[in-house]
Amino acid sequence: MNGSSCSFYCHVELLFRGCAHGSMDITLSHPPLNSPNFSTSARRRFRASLLAWYDVHRRALPWRETRDPYRIWLSEVMLQQTRVAAVTERYQEFLRRFPTAQKLARASESSVLAAWSGLGYYRRARLLHTAAKVVVRQCGGRIPASFTELQSLPGIGRYTAAAIASIAFGEPVAVVDGNVERVLQRVTGKNAGNGDLWRTAEQMLDRKRPGDFNQAMMELGATVCTPRNPACLTCPVRELCATRGEIKSDSKPVSQKKREIYYALQQREDAVLLVRRAQDASLMPGMWELPELEAPISHAKSAFSLRHSITVTDYTVRVWREAFPDAVSGKWIALRRLPVLPLTGLAGKILRQAGLMGDLRSPTTAGPQQRMTAQGLDS
Ligand code: SF4
Repeated sequence: MNGSSCSFYCHVELLFRGCAHGSMDITLSHPPLNSPNFSTSARRRFRASLLAWYDVHRRALPWRETRDPYRIWLSEVMLQQTRVAAVTERYQEFLRRFPTAQKLARASESSVLAAWSGLGYYRRARLLHTAAKVVVRQCGGRIPASFTELQSLPGIGRYTAAAIASIAFGEPVAVVDGNVERVLQRVTGKNAGNGDLWRTAEQMLDRKRPGDFNQAMMELGATVCTPRNPACLTCPVRELCATRGEIKSDSKPVSQKKREIYYALQQREDAVLLVRRAQDASLMPGMWELPELEAPISHAKSAFSLRHSITVTDYTVRVWREAFPDAVSGKWIALRRLPVLPLTGLAGKILRQAGLMGDLRSPTTAGPQQRMTAQGLDS
């Protein structure tokens, strides 16, 4: 659509409310893509432009080099609420340990959690493990090949089923994650509800290349149509976009809280003292961590400190390497066992900083490039 045809359409002021990214004033300079005024050929152009851009600009990510449903399933679960960079690091290592659904099903929960360590949201790993067992016991080891069947597996909801079905099996089903939601709202200029969003995504879907189209929509949201300052000038669908970034967001940036916490790192020859969270703990049950101190040690300097962020809290973590005969209790764990132990992300970070474990950057703070379904995690 060229500039002169734009003037044909009236400008409509819409006030978005209840959007995942706060309320937004949006000026429509084009008819919404899903309006009756927007032709089938415009949707065709949208698909062609998006896919042509994706073919050239997509990031080279390991899960994009395969059609193996297990590998795609794993990437989709890892990407929920975790940054792409963090997943890239862990994905290959997880596959090295558990290259197939069968191998995953046979593994102990503790070894699965250990491989997941640092990615956070451990319920995802537990559900993935449970689902792998269902695949082996009830599906003859074969991952269900349809959108409908996939949703019968634990932890696989509409988003994940659509992603696996379209990418691995070429089934024409659309996905809506946080990135797609934002792109659709901006492109159509409509603050669609959940049902409408999925319907719109289905209407836009390229049925010949559904997997690529879904990934292209997510890629556009992650790299171009970002939550703040979308790069509209370089956007491949700019000519078809109803808002072209003419959005005044009145959403306030989330202010991070600051907290200081203290840990004891006690080492004895080739072992370190760790404590295990209760199995019925609401957060990270059964995982291992360093003993936490109630207060800083006043008579000695901390050995080192580091920063750790969880959702809206930035922690300064101070670590003491003193002997605390009475202050802490736990279990001595051999250093060689640390890589296969389900450690909390923070424990892994401290142990790596102390040089007691191999180096792996600690991931997990959620950012715009992570997968998030319109409702949060599939469950
Ligand atoms: S980047 Fe700009 S032009 Fe592209 S879809 Fe987003 S708002 Fe529209």
